[in-house]
Amino acid sequence: MDSRLQEIAENLDKMKIGVDEPFRFHCDQCGKCCINREDILLNPRDVYNMAKELGQEPKDIFALYCEYYIGSDSRFPLVRIKPRGSIKRCPLMKDRKCSIHKAKPTVCALFPIGRCISFEQKKEKLTTEDITYIFTNPGCGDTSESHTVREWLGEFGIPIEDIYFLLWNDILMKLSAIFRQAEKKVSPSLMDKAWDLTFIKLYLDYDMTQDFLPQFEQSSRELVELMQNLPH
Ligand code: SF4
Ligand code: SF4
Repeated sequence: MDSRLQEIAENLDKMKIGVDEPFRFHCDQCGKCCINREDILLNPRDVYNMAKELGQEPKDIFALYCEYYIGSDSRFPLVRIKPRGSIKRCPLMKDRKCSIHKAKPTVCALFPIGRCISFEQKKEKLTTEDITYIFTNPGCGDTSESHTVREWLGEFGIPIEDIYFLLWNDILMKLSAIFRQAEKKVSPSLMDKAWDLTFIKLYLDYDMTQDFLPQFEQSSRELVELMQNLPH
């Protein structure tokens, strides 16, 4: 676990914020959160939304701006924005502004709010009650505005009842558990094939004329069924 996640895990109770609880923050658009970054993770809906916004296919967005790697703990294919240059600038920053503001990745849209699933409460089916929001002093901007979490998410069309977020965490947990065990038992080349297929099906294989969620749900179901055949 990296040090930032470790700190959050240790201080989670102090950082928690309710969906209708106010927090004070105003972004002064200094752009500092878009440089020196190697940790902007994209989930499949982010890639789809960015592709839609830019009139491209998810595979083009990936080729232009992203890279994928296997998470050291999750052993799951993760996608992040590939920063550029010595200051590790996000390639989507243009004229010190986000060029895809309304379709920016969820982690960027939520900042300075964080969102996580409490794994201790893991059960057969995740519900919105399992979602925890956190707020910490971001060390930037000022406190001239007051917002609630509900309003903040609403600005970017992210619902509090975010069915997709629950499904995404569910498939992450299920496939991670399978991959962690399978990796000890199958050849590296078979694992590479399993990871590549998961990456393609979850992040790239979308018909852009159709809605995202039904396609994601179907791919997730098919992948879990298929990957359960791996020894685990
Ligand atoms: S996607 Fe936009 S908000 Fe996020 S780091 Fe890049 S430029 Fe900044
Ligand atoms: S979120 Fe913070 S670091 Fe990013 S542009 Fe706004 S004030 Fe600057």
